[in-house]
Amino acid sequence: MDYLYTTGAVIASLLSVVFLYTFRGKRKNVKASMKTQNGKLLKSSGNGMCLPAKMGASPDIVIVGAGVVGSALAYTLGKDGRQVHVIERDLTEPDRIVGELLQPGGYLRLIELGLEDCVNEIDAQRVFGYALYKDGKSSKLPYPLENFHPDVAGRSFHHGRFIQRMREKAASLPNVRLEQGTVTSLLEEQGTVKGVQYKSKGSDQELTTHAPLTIVCDGCYSNLRRSLCDAKVDIPSCFVGLVLENCQLPYANHGHVILADPSPILFYPISSTEIRCLVDVPGQKVPSISSGDMAHYLKTKVAPQVPIELHAAFLAAIDNGNIKSMPNRSMPAAPHPTPGAFLMGDAVNMRHPLTGGGMTVALSDIVVVRDLLRPLDNLNDASALCKYLESFYTLRKPVSSTINTLAGALYKVFCASPDPARKEMREACFDYLSLGGMFSNGPLALLSGLNPHPLSLILHFFAVAIYAVGRLLLPFPSPKRMWIGARLILGASGIIFPIISTEGVRPMFFPVMVPSYHRAPPVNLYDFDNKAIR
Ligand SMILES: Cc1cc2nc3c(=O)[nH]c(=O)nc-3n(C[C@H](O)[C@H](O)[C@H](O)COP(=O)(O)OP(=O)(O)OC[C@H]3O[C@@H](n4cnc5c(N)ncnc54)[C@H](O)[C@@H]3O)c2cc1C
Repeated sequence: MDYLYTTGAVIASLLSVVFLYTFRGKRKNVKASMKTQNGKLLKSSGNGMCLPAKMGASPDIVIVGAGVVGSALAYTLGKDGRQVHVIERDLTEPDRIVGELLQPGGYLRLIELGLEDCVNEIDAQRVFGYALYKDGKSSKLPYPLENFHPDVAGRSFHHGRFIQRMREKAASLPNVRLEQGTVTSLLEEQGTVKGVQYKSKGSDQELTTHAPLTIVCDGCYSNLRRSLCDAKVDIPSCFVGLVLENCQLPYANHGHVILADPSPILFYPISSTEIRCLVDVPGQKVPSISSGDMAHYLKTKVAPQVPIELHAAFLAAIDNGNIKSMPNRSMPAAPHPTPGAFLMGDAVNMRHPLTGGGMTVALSDIVVVRDLLRPLDNLNDASALCKYLESFYTLRKPVSSTINTLAGALYKVFCASPDPARKEMREACFDYLSLGGMFSNGPLALLSGLNPHPLSLILHFFAVAIYAVGRLLLPFPSPKRMWIGARLILGASGIIFPIISTEGVRPMFFPVMVPSYHRAPPVNLYDFDNKAIR
């Protein structure tokens, strides 16, 4: 009998050794395959196995919305090995007039995130700068791209095609689950967000998903931001969108800005055969599209100000009837730090879309969040994580506030006004940019996101104002001109300082003086092993 037990124990031990060896081999293979996919080791879950979320692992992160931010973020965090569950209300290709021109600075961020191929195969057009029109005169303002790889330029495209490419890329990762559903509320327990409640497409049943971190990127109409930020939304104007066909832009591969009355008109290519026109209409209401008032407004008020080369196509686009409109919102970022949840994209911060800066800010923000989350092994201590992630809102400031301030200030300067001081400022801005060299390179570097530096913004803004005053006073200053000059400086200050004040002087210009700038990753969440390889 003893002999039998001993033989059984030996066989069992041998089998155990074989089993353990095989299992170890499999673990190694999992790690090896993840390594080859991304060129570096991906994070593993608590039990050491990297289970794809599609196979049922509980998510590390829930993302609400798969627009520009949600889809790019899902790919970025998924690539870093997080289990990501994205819930998007509508996974069909969006048909919107937003997010069609990506500035070169945004394209650089796209490269940094490994998403640059999302502008391939969608007939995206390269954009090399702007053409500025005023009273029949025009000036070409190239992006300062000399020191960059020849591939770096702006890109313009159909928004929906770009979004679908990013969604596909995110969904191709085994640990990203992209689901169609509408998030109805955040799940909160004692002040901590534990996940979301949502309705899956085609079902009335309320479902829940739990995760240590919920990132809300539900865009400009966000329903979920209420408890997560102080939403002071301003709507200075609306954009009315048309698509022009069978015509060529006067300056190929350039955005065109017409300093029209009452406010600017934009043209840029969105494919090899189509040109987007966005007409700014001040105020929160636009003439009714369905009644034909809008067509009348566009034909009588706007068409006479459109460059002659585009005139016929502009009228044809109105007759075609495919007119859309969208409010232009601006909202400074004022988040309420909330354990377990985090706001990004238009849900937390918006600026006037005149300068096409929204996607550049969004992609820069994703780079900041990725770098903050990378050293963390787990996200389970909600309070510690919340405190640490407060630094995001400071670290993003120099870039976001420069682009936001420029958009708000330029919109005001570019609008027509009966005030002689404002007229002078607008005229001087056109002439200053037309001087070329550093006078156009500096502002274009700010606008394109290639050098979004707040101090450079202030310098160029007041250089324009001083240039305007100089033109007024030379060669012979009169009391009237001196008075207009003084009002011009006051007016310029009245435009830029309120915007800077809402952005916050300290985080914008001296972020290192904000305590959260220096937050280190919480020790209990820190991944000492993986830190070395990242
Ligand atoms: C008229 C206009 C023109 C613009 N043009 C440009 C431009 O040329 N260049 C540029 O860089 N920026 C531009 N912008 C700004 C840019 O579009 C935004 O900054 C950008 O889209 C923000 O991305 P987001 O992911 O935060 O929001 P979105 O891209 O709007 O994505 C939000 C997503 O969340 C989903 N969602 C909403 N609620 C829920 C819910 N409850 N549950 C599930 N999903 C939900 C939505 O369906 C959507 O897919 C423009 C803006 C406007 C208004």
